Amino acid sequence: MTARRGTGPRPASNARDVDLNPAPPPDALPGVVVRAYGKFFTVVLADGRELLSTIKGVLKRQRRGTDLVAVGDRVFVRDIGEGEGRIEWVAPRTRTLSRLARHTNDVEQIILANPDQALFLFAVRNPEPHLRLLDRFLVMAESRNLPAIIGVNKMDLDISGANDEPSLARSLFDGYQEIYPVYYLSAKTGQGIAQLRQALNGKITAVAGPSGVGKSSLLNVLDPARDRAVGAISAATGKGRHTTTATVLHRIPGEAQTFVADTPGIRALSLQGVALDELDTFFPEMRPYLGQCRYADCSHISEPGCAVQAAVDAGEIRRARYESYVSLRRGDLPDES
Ligand code: GDP
Ligand code: ZN
Repeated sequence: MTARRGTGPRPASNARDVDLNPAPPPDALPGVVVRAYGKFFTVVLADGRELLSTIKGVLKRQRRGTDLVAVGDRVFVRDIGEGEGRIEWVAPRTRTLSRLARHTNDVEQIILANPDQALFLFAVRNPEPHLRLLDRFLVMAESRNLPAIIGVNKMDLDISGANDEPSLARSLFDGYQEIYPVYYLSAKTGQGIAQLRQALNGKITAVAGPSGVGKSSLLNVLDPARDRAVGAISAATGKGRHTTTATVLHRIPGEAQTFVADTPGIRALSLQGVALDELDTFFPEMRPYLGQCRYADCSHISEPGCAVQAAVDAGEIRRARYESYVSLRRGDLPDES
């Protein structure tokens, strides 16, 4: 996301959108864009019907420098018959997950419009959770003002600790629970699914996580009517199959309009737009200590009189999270496998 398009509603001074896009046409139908293929968009209507839609000509001249219509957009569409539609109005976006195009600073590519939150999904094991990647995802979400929740799938494979020791899952993720909601799940046994369903209800949730953690399996549990191929983990590498990078929105049946977005493109966002000297603000547990270091521009790595390092030593900030901070601050990107 760029400064040009912040996390809040667009400012009214952006007259281009306000003037030309004043109100939805009264006789068109509200829907949400769930897939995009070039000039074509699948719009799902309130009743679950899907219309393969193109964009009405006049709309095309309105927005420049951004995708006119993107997955997640709330639109009004005219039903023109035979399962086809024409998009006549696009609601102002509340937020976008986007990145700048590679060869120009001017055009943003929208990975998902109007996300309400992000769900970062890992497995307790098989594959082993990559917590540095989780921390990087969390920084990405914080930097974009996107509320984050964490899912720990495959709890049926958890190794429970003997002698009152915490289970493997709890020893890995309980520290996060003080900062983010953590859902302990099993697509296989149904553990935690009711709670997850509640957390998703009425929202558009961007889901990201390494392949093989059970994203497709969870979607199948949330919407049993869906017929999705579930990839087998390769025994040789422990990694799942490769996925495409296009965002697809899945409607979860229920009363409220609930969507889960497969957002493989989220990985490419990396820490785009995060200045190193503001990285500390994206670790919520560090915030109480910021401004208390001896040096105003403290990087919290090796300076004397650092309040953050003192909090780590005192056990008030978890060391593993602090180490993620240090490695991101130094510019090491974790390997993503
Ligand atoms: P994705 O790559 O994240 O979409 O993962 P998949 O849904 O394709 O699942 C990868 C593998 O993990 C498949 O073999 C699933 O059967 C398996 N799997 C998914 N969820 C669970 C779970 O809760 N428990 C166990 N034991 N296996 C699971
Ligand atoms: Zn410091």
